[in-house]
Amino acid sequence: MKVYVNGKLYSERDAKISVFDHGLLYGDGVFEGIRVYNRRVFMLREHIERLYRSARAIALEIPMSREEMADAVVRTCRVNKTANGYIRLVVTRGVGTLGLNPFVCKQPQIIIIAATIQLYPEEYYEKGLSIVTVPTVRNLAEALNPNIKSLNYLNNILAKIEAINAGVPEAIMLNADGLVAEATGDNIFTVKGRTVATPPPQAGVLEGITRNVVMGLALKSGYEVREQMMTRYDLYNADEVFLTGTAAEVVPVVEIDRRRIGDGRPGKVTQHLERQFKQLAAATGVPVR
Ligand code: PMP
Repeated sequence: MKVYVNGKLYSERDAKISVFDHGLLYGDGVFEGIRVYNRRVFMLREHIERLYRSARAIALEIPMSREEMADAVVRTCRVNKTANGYIRLVVTRGVGTLGLNPFVCKQPQIIIIAATIQLYPEEYYEKGLSIVTVPTVRNLAEALNPNIKSLNYLNNILAKIEAINAGVPEAIMLNADGLVAEATGDNIFTVKGRTVATPPPQAGVLEGITRNVVMGLALKSGYEVREQMMTRYDLYNADEVFLTGTAAEVVPVVEIDRRRIGDGRPGKVTQHLERQFKQLAAATGVPVR
């Protein structure tokens, strides 16, 4: 595999950045995870836009245009002959001193890794996930806005540890008001009758690109789609629950905190949206060649 670092492609072994990079020292930087399906980069423009919004929010000036960034992603896929994969696009603050001041870092580091896919186990989709809510609260928007997709993922990692301690693969994080926010790397949805709902941005979530695609698909399929605040009660009493994310796509949830969701099997609406999503992903995107 060839890894893109600041305009050049290196072998995995030679793709390196400094130990003085503030991305490492402080988690100071931003990133995106992007999928490639059938030699096409899915939702590339949306991911690039979010990357630049995250960068703006942390006063990080990315030293190339959005078009150049999109070209760099496509070029990295082309060189690696990526047909189906997961791209990690990272922009770090760059090399600085051991102090916090980000403005001593003069050269942001741009890294693009086009990895071959590590799909979630098939079992997750067939049987659905059993997950739990955890004590670690999602970052307060007033402190570190969850819309900033930053290199500091400790909030989510702490929740992930709690999930794994509980013997399940994923956690639901609540916000400081005790309302449902999202999973550690995925957004959450409920289905109740003909209504598909997900917490609004103000609940303190990352506005997922998969989330937005799935909301559009649900609308097109004739469901009522709502962004609404949710309590755990609403999750327990939903007909169906599912998660969405770039890596996960659409994954059913069948148990939360020992409460069976619906009949305890992946729901019909979830499965319908899963199929719709796969169809869209297979048919759209920016060509790699
Ligand atoms: N929430 C969090 C905290 C995430 O890290 C991710 C994955 N990037 C998501 C939601 C899902 O976002 P997307 O659909 O854009 O991958």
